[in-house]
Amino acid sequence: MKFHSRSTWHSLFTRNQTFLICKKSLLNSLNDVVEAAVAWEAGKPLVIEEVEVAPLQAGEVRLKILFTSLCHTDVYFWEAKGQTPLFPRIFGHEAGGIVESVGEGVTHLKPGDKALPVFTGECGECPHLVHAGCVAKINPEAPLDKVCILSCGICTGLGATVNVAKPKPGSSVAIFGLGAVGLAAAEGARISGASRIIGVDLVSSRFELAKKFGVNEFVNPKVD
Ligand SMILES: [Zn+2]
Repeated sequence: MKFHSRSTWHSLFTRNQTFLICKKSLLNSLNDVVEAAVAWEAGKPLVIEEVEVAPLQAGEVRLKILFTSLCHTDVYFWEAKGQTPLFPRIFGHEAGGIVESVGEGVTHLKPGDKALPVFTGECGECPHLVHAGCVAKINPEAPLDKVCILSCGICTGLGATVNVAKPKPGSSVAIFGLGAVGLAAAEGARISGASRIIGVDLVSSRFELAKKFGVNEFVNPKVD
């Protein structure tokens, strides 16, 4: 199976949510074959197999993924409910890795940089684009096993509050669901200066952790 790196990125961010999970080291290697967990059919177990990656093109980045968390969007596309099934797919877009190589014209990343793929990339020149703009360089001291969640879930939650809802200082915010995205949304409300941050969740055990992210009132619809 061949995955062209550019179409992989395009598909990740615009069409079919495909992303490459590399297990074998690509650093200092010309080997274009990597191992990946491939979804061949909706709801069927993933198959670990070798996939071939096409040579890097201009504007592309090859990222050696070291850690990935399972975003619910991956589960959604794996289940293929509510959208056109498109297989094979490789999941794991919420990830952290090291830049293995960069294509012609890529100047903000170099091999060895720690980086995160980001769901909605920016080239800096157009409103929406992919390629290298979908890879964000991060502090080399950052622990990739932990910061990989910044690649999707945290950006989604924090951005929903800070960039979309934009609560004013002193306002009240209700957050439905206190998973990773919800906690990040709470953090966004806290940063924005919201005074009442109401967490709504069916799992009461989540409330304790949520306090650390600014949630100061709790509602469990099953109990309250
Ligand atoms: Zn995601």
